[in-house]
Amino acid sequence: MIDDNWKEVRELRIKLVEDFRELFGDRGARDVSYSPGWDELLRGLLTQIRELGVPVCISQIKEKFGWLRIYAHAEGTGGSAKLDELINAAELKASRTCEECGKEGHVRKQLYWLKALCDECLQAAVARNPKCIRAMTEEFYGLDNRESGVDTPVDS
Ligand SMILES: [Zn+2]
Repeated sequence: MIDDNWKEVRELRIKLVEDFRELFGDRGARDVSYSPGWDELLRGLLTQIRELGVPVCISQIKEKFGWLRIYAHAEGTGGSAKLDELINAAELKASRTCEECGKEGHVRKQLYWLKALCDECLQAAVARNPKCIRAMTEEFYGLDNRESGVDTPVDS
């Protein structure tokens, strides 16, 4: 998906920054990188941040080791704690949300890189890259990271 429609993915990111322009300062979309499955989650977060009513500057949004990472600061002291709280909650939620399609998932370690995926998107990723066949076998035999603790199965 990421390989096939990178243009659409890029447009999605640009649209996000345009829709929440005041939160991104001068750097704009330069340091905004994420897969489509996290778009809705990010829009929800940015709406909440906007509602804080304090000047916020988001310097970077990216995926790292299967986790969403958002770097931002609030002007003044009033909004910082609340901002951190919102961002932490969104990052945790993203680790349980498929990066590709937005369905429920968890961070997978079977590919060559860590990625939050649902079962279907993991299988599709493996199919696109036959060298990952080991991953699918592990998944079928129940050796995915639900047992090894890479994901964070927290009831909310
Ligand atoms: Zn998926």
